[in-house]
Amino acid sequence: MSYPVITIDKAKIEHNSRTLSKLLKQQGMRLVGVAKGVCAHPAVVEAMVSGGASAIGDSRIDNLRRIREQGYQGETILLRAPGPSQCDEAVLYADTSLNSEITTVKLLGEAASKAGKMHKVILMVDLGDLREGVMPEQAADVALEFERISGIRLVGIGTNMACYGGVIPTAEKMRLLLQVKTEVEQCIGRPLERISGGTSANIKLVLSGQMPQGITELRIGEGILLGTEAVERKPIPGCFRDAFLIKAEVIEVKTKPSKPIGEIGQDAFGNVPVFEDRGHRRRAIVSLGQQDIDPSALFPCGKGIEILGASSDHLICDVEEAGCPVNVGDILEFGLTYGTLLKAFTSPFVAKEVLKGAG
Ligand SMILES: *Cc1c(COP(=O)(O)O)cnc(C)c1O
Repeated sequence: MSYPVITIDKAKIEHNSRTLSKLLKQQGMRLVGVAKGVCAHPAVVEAMVSGGASAIGDSRIDNLRRIREQGYQGETILLRAPGPSQCDEAVLYADTSLNSEITTVKLLGEAASKAGKMHKVILMVDLGDLREGVMPEQAADVALEFERISGIRLVGIGTNMACYGGVIPTAEKMRLLLQVKTEVEQCIGRPLERISGGTSANIKLVLSGQMPQGITELRIGEGILLGTEAVERKPIPGCFRDAFLIKAEVIEVKTKPSKPIGEIGQDAFGNVPVFEDRGHRRRAIVSLGQQDIDPSALFPCGKGIEILGASSDHLICDVEEAGCPVNVGDILEFGLTYGTLLKAFTSPFVAKEVLKGAG
């Protein structure tokens, strides 16, 4: 095996996908599996689909193209609105996209007509998180504009929260989305088939049984991949949180002072570090860095091992109180949260390994 490596347990991902798709189904919603956290890795996408995800979403067209090329036949959803320059590609690889700009949707319509396709559009409504979407009071007018564009079909409205502003998707916010739906339907004179209520940040609402009737789908990445909801990062009952693990090699072990010696200036990333003097401590350097992981989203599996920090290519761990002695050449294992998942799958230096016998 080459290191560093991120291991993928397909059976656990499939299990999480099944658990969440059942949970959503009980409340009248379908599960859209979101693959961007793993750069749409084919094994992960496969596990999401076999667990019950009825469509695959990603924010990058490149990822959707790869999913298609690997033979996925189901619906693909582009989660980040395409730029005007990307509309030809967008209609080739995405069946549906989330949009908020009339200019772009007109270009999508032209591209789809040219390609002999009908591209589905979900109009995004901003319920206060202040990332993408039209303000609620403008939704009906914009929807009417979309309705007049040929080559596209407005299939519904959606929202995204807890991403930029950290605004929590409450039952009240969901009711507001349903109110916007009614206004849009009255304005365009026909019902909308899809109401896309949000992300892993909505799972808490679903678990508490307070999701209002009428939301038809959620777009879930983190919940399936890491088994956590995204408001308080609490575990989802019945889901695995360790479908992914990082393994990396120890390249130096030495006892050193815990406080650097000399005048302290900026570190590799422009921050001025502060150190507590804990005397001499045994430390291990692991060949992983900020290019591969986010040290604040990485958790040693070994007892008594503590992450001190990371530069671009060196992860420094305190192993003074490690349960087992740590030596050069040892392989250390780490659990992870979203920041590291994203970086590890994006880094060409981290090998990706699908576990054998795990589905
Ligand atoms: C990333 C993203 C999601 C999935 O978010 P998770 O928190 O991983 O579930 C859903 N919708 C949009 C628009 C996104 O950008």
